[in-house]
Amino acid sequence: MGGKRKNLRKLRYAVQLAFLLLTVFIGYRFFGFVLHFESPGYPFVERPPSVDAFLPIAGLMSFKYFLLTGVVEPFHPAAFVMFAAIVAVSLVLKKGFCGWICPVGTVSQYFWMAGEKIFGRNLRVNKYADVPMRSLKYLLMALFLVLIGITMAPNTMVLFFLSDYYKTADVRTMKFFTEMSRTAFWSLLFIGGFSLLFKNFWCRYLCPYGALLGLLSSLSPVKIRRNEEKCIHCGACSKNCPSLLPVEKKEVVSSPECFGCMTCVSQCPSEGALDITTAAGKKRMPLNPWLYPAGLLLLFYLIVGAGIVSGKWQSSVSIAEYRKLIPAISPKDGGHQFSEKKAAFPEDKNF
Ligand code: SF4
Ligand code: SF4
Repeated sequence: MGGKRKNLRKLRYAVQLAFLLLTVFIGYRFFGFVLHFESPGYPFVERPPSVDAFLPIAGLMSFKYFLLTGVVEPFHPAAFVMFAAIVAVSLVLKKGFCGWICPVGTVSQYFWMAGEKIFGRNLRVNKYADVPMRSLKYLLMALFLVLIGITMAPNTMVLFFLSDYYKTADVRTMKFFTEMSRTAFWSLLFIGGFSLLFKNFWCRYLCPYGALLGLLSSLSPVKIRRNEEKCIHCGACSKNCPSLLPVEKKEVVSSPECFGCMTCVSQCPSEGALDITTAAGKKRMPLNPWLYPAGLLLLFYLIVGAGIVSGKWQSSVSIAEYRKLIPAISPKDGGHQFSEKKAAFPEDKNF
């Protein structure tokens, strides 16, 4: 059993790589789409709607707007669909999105793996600094939740949705990388440097999205559970956990830092000692660990598929609008030009 389970890690690496390559492909297509409007003569490329995955704040906003009004904003509907899919996956199957799908998590992982190869090991933040540093991502998450989830009224949200700034939020996000400011460059270099030295530096200390998913995943019935009777205390689970969790000492891993990577399960040499389980009352019911990634991808794509089928996927920003808006974006102005002509409201809330 142990031998077969070891392949779980290989499967995860393959799934992560596939999503990273998919992300690069989507980014490349979107770059071509933007170039068409900026460079006369460049052929037209269809806009890939899944580029909206890079707008998590838009996803959060439109998720809240949907909960309040039942309406999905039409300019970045795929951001809403993917936000809903990721939230649902986290509630049902813990933080597996971070461990298996998120391309930022994958790049972060490649950095610490490279660091381990270069320097022979990764560093560990002192335990007294680790806790306050980990709270940084929760502070960032709280800031977004307060600003958007609590403070922002639906009317204000509609005004924002109708602004030129929001309609081209995807283009602006792309330009953040392709026309990077000096501050952004040094910030990314700083994060990259620390990611080489420390395991999952971005995910562990800074990612507000991961913080939110970690808290939601606490509600998931699916958990890593250790059976003391079968455990031979070899320490392989704790040693290999990329989230630095003391799995060997826990009966149930309930930490929001656990992203369901299955590394501990795949490395455990004692059959029945460590399993991914779902709880039914006080009973632990082991799940086939191979079914975990299958369930994760199935649920994620079921919700994305439902979004596509129900017409909540393609942006309703017209080509004529893109033709006008994209060339007007200056990388330096931040583009905070709200559209005045659409301020009619709240009658306009169905767009
Ligand atoms: S506890 Fe296991 S599944 Fe969770 S992060 Fe650590 S190694 Fe991965
Ligand atoms: S890897 Fe398995 S046997 Fe070893 S300490 Fe962890 S749970 Fe126990």
